[in-house]
Amino acid sequence: MKVAIDGPAGAGKSTIARAAAKMLGFIYIDTGAMYRAVGLYAWRRGVDTKNDTEGVVRLLPEIEVTISHVDGVQRVFLCGEDVSEEIRLPEISVAASNVAVIPEVRLKLVELQRALSEKTDVIMDGRDIGTYVLPDAEVKIFLTADVRKRAERRYLELAEKGVSTTLEEVLSDMEYRDKNDSGRAFAPLRQAEDAVLVDTSFNTPDESISEVVNIIRGKQNVL
Ligand code: C5P
Repeated sequence: MKVAIDGPAGAGKSTIARAAAKMLGFIYIDTGAMYRAVGLYAWRRGVDTKNDTEGVVRLLPEIEVTISHVDGVQRVFLCGEDVSEEIRLPEISVAASNVAVIPEVRLKLVELQRALSEKTDVIMDGRDIGTYVLPDAEVKIFLTADVRKRAERRYLELAEKGVSTTLEEVLSDMEYRDKNDSGRAFAPLRQAEDAVLVDTSFNTPDESISEVVNIIRGKQNVL
């Protein structure tokens, strides 16, 4: 079974998808981490990810992104180096969103995402999973929340990790990414016609997890 969970940054996709996958015995695949790994590579090489599309595309043949799961937790490797923590830095969020606009980057990563979904039951989260990567997914969920709530959650998450930033900075990065992700020409962020909308603005994480698990179980029962 394939489950697609899409939505903007900070809606709770990874927390919910990870927990649901654990409860249901699925493998959780975080596709944002792959865009982040490409963004990190370009950023380390000093390429202007916003304006220098050709510079990013030129790097692609050198970039090898792989993922593996340790105790159900996804780790991301960039040319063999575990970059799972470094890709979470705010500057890499923006670089990821910039490189994600480039069709060549998307095609490379979509190939990897589809290959991973062939092997086992997956819950995959991202922006274009239900609309483009896995259009035949049995369950599609579009997870969203008010932008201020999303920024507050992300800010707390970063503060817990000791990353120094402000709520306003996180909010402005999030609005920038929302605009980039929804406005790009190729595989933009949008709700698939057959996706169930889940608004997490006023939910606790546990409430959202139950809602999503119930949707998946409901579908399992009729298949
Ligand atoms: O999900 P996360 O916030 O980690 O994703 C980082 C960036 O990667 C997003 O802002 C988005 O631009 C991009 N992305 C994407 N398509 C996906 C997953 C992530 O464009 N399927």
